[in-house]
Amino acid sequence: MDKYKIETLGDNHISTSVRTPLRPDAFEKSDEEKIKNIQSYFTKIMEELGLDLTDDSLSGTPYRFAKMYVEELFYGLDPKNKPKISVFDNKYGYDKMLVEQNITINSSCEHHFLPITGKAHIGYIPKNKVVGLSKINRLVDYYAHRPQVQERLSLQILRDLQNTLETDDVIVVISAEHLCVSSRGIKDSNSFTTTIEYGGRFENERIKSDFLKLIGS
Ligand SMILES: [Zn+2]
Repeated sequence: MDKYKIETLGDNHISTSVRTPLRPDAFEKSDEEKIKNIQSYFTKIMEELGLDLTDDSLSGTPYRFAKMYVEELFYGLDPKNKPKISVFDNKYGYDKMLVEQNITINSSCEHHFLPITGKAHIGYIPKNKVVGLSKINRLVDYYAHRPQVQERLSLQILRDLQNTLETDDVIVVISAEHLCVSSRGIKDSNSFTTTIEYGGRFENERIKSDFLKLIGS
């Protein structure tokens, strides 16, 4: 890809698919091996920038960086880290909307590897299955901890919940600030991005607007 195309794709935050693009050998190496390799690559990057890694303050940075990438910021790449989402039978026969609001989003933009921070609001209308509410937060956290594009993050959460809850009646709204927009490029520190993805009964205008009223949007 030429450099102009690379910049345009990044600045417009265009993603190419709903699935996170992964190499077939993505999980053949252990986390320890990945940390060791990334540590040595990041040492090279810091040296290339002219930094003196014999300085006490900088010497441990490549290791901290590598560990943070593999175990924290991008733990959600590896399916072995996916939270177990246990569902229960909907014994009460509750068939109205259930809303989980203000779920924290800590993610990273896949075009610049800079933070995306914001809130997710999720609603569903139970059929036969219900889910423990904190499990929704865990699922959001898992998908957020990958290099992401906001639209894809919304869709990955939506599809997963639709499968888990065995219903299409799910809605996902995310409002987030992208550091790559606020601190570089256009440098607009006040703007944020909202995405909305839904299916099933949320296609109905009244049900959708009930949800949006509830979340105060
Ligand atoms: Zn970006």
